[in-house]
This record gives sequence, structure tokens and C-alpha cells, in this order.
Amino acid sequence: MSDLAQRLEAVRCEIADACRRVGRSPDSVTLVAVSKTQPSAVILEAIRHGQLDFGENRVEEALEKIAEIGSAAKWHMIGHVQSRKARDVVALFDYVHSLDSARLAERYARLLAEGGRGDARPFRVLIEVNISGEPSKYGVLAANWQHNRAVRQTLWSEVQRMVGLPLVQVEGLMTMAPVVSEPEQARPYFASLRLLRDALADDFPQANWHMLSMGMSDDYTVAIEEGATHVRIGRAIFGERG
Ligand SMILES: *Cc1c(COP(=O)(O)O)cnc(C)c1O
Repeated sequence: MSDLAQRLEAVRCEIADACRRVGRSPDSVTLVAVSKTQPSAVILEAIRHGQLDFGENRVEEALEKIAEIGSAAKWHMIGHVQSRKARDVVALFDYVHSLDSARLAERYARLLAEGGRGDARPFRVLIEVNISGEPSKYGVLAANWQHNRAVRQTLWSEVQRMVGLPLVQVEGLMTMAPVVSEPEQARPYFASLRLLRDALADDFPQANWHMLSMGMSDDYTVAIEEGATHVRIGRAIFGERG
């Protein structure tokens, strides 16, 4: 077995183990292989080993790979999208995990209304929230949302604008936990994202809140224990990025 096949298999086993620990079905977690910086040949090898979902964080880089590989994979945009790149994202990606402002959502809605998707595939998005409050992170600010009324008000009004848009199908939340030395230290952030999802689902029943995209190479097993439906894993599958 190649290194890639072995690492992919090891990650799948870890996902299944984490699911078992909390009584979840392994089918309830989608592995998104984060293929940023990896060439198409490597992605094709992962596809040969049964991997279907791939995450990319830069539009330009992804365009080339999608042109080469196309619908043999499902494409997830996981990085910040500049408004001038929104058109390509609407045309090409299956999911967007990184919807980080109502302004961008409104831009997506306009492009979709103009037929920018080219077909009837639903445009599925997750709202990215910054649950740790670190200034380096993208996402609608959600730090301390349970106790900070101002944060909650701003967050709720952004979400209100997003869920009201035609054709932009909100399906859940995404976050990045802070970099910590022990995976356990990320647990409170994942738990907080899940509670936030539950609160938003109560207040905005017009959207579908079934997706929780959280967990990366160093902390995905904890994220799964806390309810992740999508884990975004790069290094643990493809090795350290050069
Ligand atoms: C790079 C990246 C990942 C994957 O990180 P690894 O540490 O390689 O698993 C996940 N999510 C986002 C948003 C990323 O940019």
C-alpha cells in the first residue's frame, strides 16, 4: 500500500473509533480531504483509494484542479473568498464552508439569480464563525456568544440576512479551533459551536442546520466526539505541506 493509502486508511479508522466512543454511526461523518497545495495527480490517487470529498482554500489553485478532475470529486471551498472570486465559487464548488459575511452571501445570491451556477445543483453553504475570537481568523465573530449580548446580536442579525436569501442554501456552521498543544484543549470550542448551531436552529428554522464542519488533522477525533459531521483533514492524509 502507498503512504497515501495507508494514511487515508488510518484516518478512516480513527474516525470510526471516535464515532464508536460516542455511539455515532461512522456514516454520519464525511471526511473532507484538504488537498490545498497538492497536485491533481495526488488527488487522483486519493480518488482511486475511495476518497470523494476534497477541500481547497484558494480559488485560483482549485480552478485548475477542478478543470482536470471535475465531477469525479466533490469540491468544498474552505478558505476566505474575495468578492471578485465569488463568481468562480458559484460556478464550480459543491459546498462552501467559509461563508463569513452577509455581504458575501448577498453577492452569491445575485450571481445565482443570474444563472451563475449553470444548472440546478443546490448551492450549499455553511456559515463560518470565529468561535475563539482570535483576530487572525475569518468568520462572523462568535467569541463568548452565550454571555456577550452584543456579539450575539451582531451574529444573529448577520445570520438573519444570510438565511433570508433565495438560492443560498444554509446548511450549518464551520469553525477553526485555535492551535493548541493538546487536542482536548480544543473541545470547548467544538462544544460551543454545536450549542450555537442548536440555538440558531431554534431561532431560524427556515434553514437546515444539519452540518457541523469542525476538526482538522490535530483535533478531529475530539471534534467528532462533539458532533462534527464534516472533518477537514490535510496533513494527516497527505503529509506535511512543503
Ligand atoms: C488547511 C486547512 C485545513 C486542514 O488542515 P490540516 O492541519 O492540514 O489538517 C482545514 N480547514 C481549513 C479551513 C484549512 O485552511
